[in-house]
Amino acid sequence: MNNFAVLPPGVSASSFTGAVDEFAHILGADYVLIDPERIAPYRKVYIPVSEDSVAPSAVLMPSSVQQIQQLLAVCNKHKIPLWTISTGRNIGMGSAAPAMRGSMILDLRRMNGILEVDADLGSALIEPGVTYLQLKNYLDEHKLPFWVDAPSPGPIVSPIGNTLERGHGYSTHQDHVYAFSGMEVVLANGDVIRTGFGPLPNCKSWQAFRAGYGPYIDGMFTQSNFGIVTKMGIWLTPVPEGAKSFVVYYAHREDLPKAVDTFRRLRLNGTITVVGSILNGLSLLGFSARRSSFWTGKGAIPRQQVDALLKQRGLPQWRLGGVVYGDDQETTIKLRKIKQAFEATSPAEVLIEGSAGIPSWGEGDLASATGKLSLDAFHILNYIGGGGVIFHMPVSAMKGRYVEQLCNMSEDILRRFGFDYLAMNWCNDRDMHQTTGIFFDQTDPARVRAAHDCFDVLMQETSKAGFGNYRCSTHYMDKAAELLGPELRAFLRSIKRAIDPNGILAPGKSGIHI
Ligand SMILES: Cc1cc2nc3c(=O)[nH]c(=O)nc-3n(C[C@H](O)[C@H](O)[C@H](O)COP(=O)(O)OP(=O)(O)OC[C@H]3O[C@@H](n4cnc5c(N)ncnc54)[C@H](O)[C@@H]3O)c2cc1C
Repeated sequence: MNNFAVLPPGVSASSFTGAVDEFAHILGADYVLIDPERIAPYRKVYIPVSEDSVAPSAVLMPSSVQQIQQLLAVCNKHKIPLWTISTGRNIGMGSAAPAMRGSMILDLRRMNGILEVDADLGSALIEPGVTYLQLKNYLDEHKLPFWVDAPSPGPIVSPIGNTLERGHGYSTHQDHVYAFSGMEVVLANGDVIRTGFGPLPNCKSWQAFRAGYGPYIDGMFTQSNFGIVTKMGIWLTPVPEGAKSFVVYYAHREDLPKAVDTFRRLRLNGTITVVGSILNGLSLLGFSARRSSFWTGKGAIPRQQVDALLKQRGLPQWRLGGVVYGDDQETTIKLRKIKQAFEATSPAEVLIEGSAGIPSWGEGDLASATGKLSLDAFHILNYIGGGGVIFHMPVSAMKGRYVEQLCNMSEDILRRFGFDYLAMNWCNDRDMHQTTGIFFDQTDPARVRAAHDCFDVLMQETSKAGFGNYRCSTHYMDKAAELLGPELRAFLRSIKRAIDPNGILAPGKSGIHI
């Protein structure tokens, strides 16, 4: 009998040994990972919890839907929970590790086929293990005029994993939960369903028309534990005739509401069609320098010191950045309107592409808006050093006074726990998604505890003020669900009990249990 370091909850060693033999029979022993060294990468988390508390019991790596169905039959028999990952790089939110210790990981990286690309419609039917880089390379090799709309870690992550987490990119299809059509899903009992018009034998619109007929169920498989997604139709961004950037610098903290309201008006009237960013000065600094190179004191850098640092380095309090698409004539007209609108808000400076000093394409978040893939955003993880990060991701309506309230609350709470506030606001027409990173040294138990407590307070206080979290780290999923009240949770539990009575799929995901 094997000596497993961790067992699935409620499963005896002998039962698990029997199950592992059955898994090996289905997949081949090489694709059933039970050795601690081979499981180690799946325990590696950056969030402020111990690796042991999220340790999986084993890892299964199927290569087909049929194998997944066979694995599920074994899991149901032994009541073994499975946590599905596509590429498992949900960094800052739990990475590849499960919400429930002892769950097995179902790693779909071997299912990495690009099954079909429709060059007329700009859609791609893909499997979970495909990365944005793989898809981009395919488009480049076949000289297809489309971009992938990737999140910052695009080269190494999966369009399916990112979409299921309702992630975002930076070009025309930035809101990924609205940029796909058609899923294939394996349910806990092994049934395979297709959403939209996917069930029709010669379907002509699976990747084109999301809604299908009857209840719209695709959303049920995002941020949930109701199924294993094995195929998805992702929408690609047609390469526009041109793209030009603009940035607006604001010198005062109080300028934020003006920036937000002006950007919203320009999005609602169609001058700007994609997400823009409003970053605070400290976040601009954090992307380029390690904190210890300009501040060695303990606790959050005092506000006056932040102001002095920004001044010294010629950085603004806020930098708003965005892009417009179209031919030369269109972009010239749009940039003129943008310049006029922002100049009326008395910023420190408005720069449109062509002005000296504007960041060029290929730099930071602006590069992502033109289909470029890089891992530059990972520089931010060096801000403190020591490998710890947890992201808080609240949403506000795109109104200046709300965004300001959220930023002020977030900053006050971070300061209370001795963390700097690196504000990243992703601005749309009606909503603003914020990413607040808490960066800490994982080797310092006091800072790990502080990061944990700070996240908890951030989530509670901002939610109570009306700013919900649109994504949440594994460890905090129950609390995030609790904040939305018992009725919704009971409804989700009743669905879970009906379709997965043994509770084998991702127990605890988004706070859903049987
Ligand atoms: C520096 C930095 C910058 C980042 N920038 C961005 C950004 O710009 N935009 C953004 O959205 N995110 C960003 N992230 C967060 C994260 O890295 C990405 O969202 C990433 O795409 C998630 O990892 P993944 O694609 O490997 O998904 P996975 O880790 O594979 O999946 C995420 C979750 O989805 C579920 N899941 C995955 N696959 C399946 C499946 N086939 N069936 C059922 N459920 C499944 C599981 O619960 C899983 O835990 C950033 C992270 C860092 C560290």
